[in-house]
Amino acid sequence: MAYTLPALPYAYDALEPYIDEQTMHLHHDKHHQTYVNNANGILEALSDEIKQLSPEALLANLDKVPSDKVTGIKNNVGGHVNHTLFWELLKVGTELKGELKAAIEKDFGTVDAFKEKFSAAAASRFGSGWAWLVLQNGKLAVVSTANQDSPLMGEKYSGVSGTPILALDVWEHAYYLKYQNRRADYIGAFWNVINWDKVAELYAQAKK
Ligand code: MN
Repeated sequence: MAYTLPALPYAYDALEPYIDEQTMHLHHDKHHQTYVNNANGILEALSDEIKQLSPEALLANLDKVPSDKVTGIKNNVGGHVNHTLFWELLKVGTELKGELKAAIEKDFGTVDAFKEKFSAAAASRFGSGWAWLVLQNGKLAVVSTANQDSPLMGEKYSGVSGTPILALDVWEHAYYLKYQNRRADYIGAFWNVINWDKVAELYAQAKK
């Protein structure tokens, strides 16, 4: 069962002016598509047991992957899973509220303190990678990963653990056309395009 590129759940210009239409086209149609194509190429050579796993389950079971394929799977199945999640997390005009807001205040002190911590993780990730809000042993935590690593891969493969509920892509391909070297401006803009309803949904699922 080959992976396919999911359509964006909104128009390419829906995140303007924070994330521009041209970046969304390149990022989704070209970069994400390449991860999907490469992942499918690597999967072809693997066992039926591995092919039958969902991409998320595959990331959580890298011990089952032949060692010479692990890096390819991390980069490309990771790239596919991370981007599929990222698109769903973006929307203009939603509000952080309710149980999720209370949990953020409990685990970080204030919403601003959380934003500062998340922004710092995104800004300080050297080179390419992701910043994450995860649920870890019942508590919210901010972590970051290199390349296309995901907390779903666990400590051994990504250096971190937890269930992702918010993610920010800080690869240059995510922002360079509009923001050039100004990653901090892109991170600042991100707070305007978070789909808090989706984050709340993921938080509720992760808590179960
Ligand atoms: Mn990306």
